[in-house]
Parts: sequence; structure tokens; C-alpha cells
Amino acid sequence: MSILDSLSGGPEATGPDRTICSRKACRAEAEWQLLWNNPKIHTPDRRKIWVACDEHAGWLQEFLTQRGLWKETLPLNDGER
Ligand SMILES: [Zn+2]
Repeated sequence: MSILDSLSGGPEATGPDRTICSRKACRAEAEWQLLWNNPKIHTPDRRKIWVACDEHAGWLQEFLTQRGLWKETLPLNDGER
């Protein structure tokens, strides 16, 4: 299994009140959302969202950037309020 597969289920594991970091095995509360798109499997306007804690936001952005998938990183609260 690729790391992309193992990460892609992340946001679905969140509860109603807390958003947990998408990084596997991390239980920290997410503070960032990373918007990305894989042109091989998604239409250009589609956005997948990973959420990340402060510690892992940079790691995930780097991961997506290296694969040409990264679009945007936004504070989590801005998208919801
Ligand atoms: Zn984390």
C-alpha cells in the first residue's frame, strides 16, 4: 500500500467536535487544511482535503508538493466559520 492510500482516509475518522490530524497515528487536533488535487484521478476543479496539526501541516504540504498535488494550505477555522 502506498503512503497516499494510507493517508487518504484521514478526515473520515474525525468525530463531530474534534478534527484530528490526517497523519497516520497522530491524534493531535488539526489546525490546518491542505487542499490538493491529483490530475490523474480527479477533475481539475476537484479538491481533496487533508487536515493536519501544526506539527504535520508542513510535512504533508511537502509530501503533496513533491508529487505535484498540492494546491493550498488554509487555517482550518477559516473554512468553517
Ligand atoms: Zn499531526
